[in-house]
Amino acid sequence: MKLIFERGYKGRGSEHLPCCDVSVCQFPESMMRTEKPALPEVSEIELVRHYTELEKQTYGVNDGFYPLGSCTMKYNPRINEEMASLPGFTNIHPLQSQDTVQGCMEVLYKAEETLNEITGMDRFTMQPSAGAHGEFTGLLLIRAWHLHHGNTQRTKVIVPDSAHGTNPATVTMAGYETVNVPSTKDGLVDLDALREAVGEDTAGLMLTNPNTLGLFDPNIGEITKIIHDAGGLCYYDGANLNAVMGQARPGDMGFDCVHLNVHKTFSAPHGGGGPGSGPVGCKAFLAPFLPGPVVEKEDGAFTFKTPEFSYGRVRGFHGNFLVLVKTLTYILSLGREGIPEASANAVLNANYLMNRIAKDYDIASGSHCMHEFVITLERLQKETGVSALDVAKRLIDYGIHPPTMYFPLNVKEALMVEPVETEPLETLDEVAEIFKQVMEEAKENPELLHGAPHNAPIGRPDEVNAARNPVLRYTP
Ligand SMILES: *Cc1c(COP(=O)(O)O)cnc(C)c1O
Repeated sequence: MKLIFERGYKGRGSEHLPCCDVSVCQFPESMMRTEKPALPEVSEIELVRHYTELEKQTYGVNDGFYPLGSCTMKYNPRINEEMASLPGFTNIHPLQSQDTVQGCMEVLYKAEETLNEITGMDRFTMQPSAGAHGEFTGLLLIRAWHLHHGNTQRTKVIVPDSAHGTNPATVTMAGYETVNVPSTKDGLVDLDALREAVGEDTAGLMLTNPNTLGLFDPNIGEITKIIHDAGGLCYYDGANLNAVMGQARPGDMGFDCVHLNVHKTFSAPHGGGGPGSGPVGCKAFLAPFLPGPVVEKEDGAFTFKTPEFSYGRVRGFHGNFLVLVKTLTYILSLGREGIPEASANAVLNANYLMNRIAKDYDIASGSHCMHEFVITLERLQKETGVSALDVAKRLIDYGIHPPTMYFPLNVKEALMVEPVETEPLETLDEVAEIFKQVMEEAKENPELLHGAPHNAPIGRPDEVNAARNPVLRYTP
């Protein structure tokens, strides 16, 4: 496919700018460019065709099965977009006076109320822009509380080895040191190792439950108690709440603080389609330290207040507001019955698919899972040379998006599959047949898989090089 810069002809154009209706401001000569910028010169139809072609080359949830484990690529209901495009939500300015945006403030207030109910927390900040940003906000909250109580010797945060990679990164960013705790062979937190790890220097714990193997830790009450007894606080990485929303609450498991990826669990588009949002909730004793402002209701009106010991802002204004409109729309349209039904179906779908795939593939741990499961291709790789990458690439030829690869790190040749609740039974059956077919191919014709995908516009880009040395500018 040609780049937009390679299309068109010098002097061709398609600008249709409206007449200027404000006074023209002349910049000083020293600030003006001396040459015209090298912009593409294409007609409107060329422009439209270019973007349509790009659109056809991308694959999204609306195209087909998208089992990207840990990412929760669920369907984004159209009604969310409709609500988020209402003029009352879009034609506002963050510096507008509060009495003219009461409805928008009510959205933030109601979203907070529903998230409190779902997580078992008492207060939320809506500022963080995504999951990792939420983790950072939450750990700074824990840190602010410790510092307020003079706990300067608490410098370490415990993170199980099955954690999402962002957890240890967040610990470091927040000025703490990570202490890794190993998992048992069943993929759960090793309680003895945890008891060994805690002490006077423990600031807290960061944990995902269900963990990245898709397992719910049945010792969760004991885990949070060990941390609390040692004087630490417990942080719940709730990026993915899709297995437990409406079923179990981090607050009841003993957690003090949690972030949610509403762009995963609560159906805002993500993965190139952002922006996201990662609200952070906490128990009442942490609320005075939250970033401000938060929305309060006083005499029937909504006002912004900065909590008493707020450690400051983590972002300008009030977070990605329109994403929160989508979150509230999703929660209200599912309601008290729909929320637990969605998580139950997510778990059911994952278990159904896992059990069908288990006939042909090795499952990393357990006979049942939560909302996702992990396949290990270690044996296949030893026997045939076909790797997790090869299998993932071959799935593209069958028109489905590959699962997450090589994650979690504690499983060799891992593929992490999360089918989500919105997939019908027929799709799960088709997918199981595709996995079966690919396994047969791997055994009979490994070369076919080493060369896959065979019918995608791009086969195997150098991903490491692309991430480390991105070329983002076109040089003619
Ligand atoms: C996705 C995810 C994150 C990171 O969220 P971002 O919005 O990508 O920053 C953190 N933890 C877990 C468990 C996740 O699944």
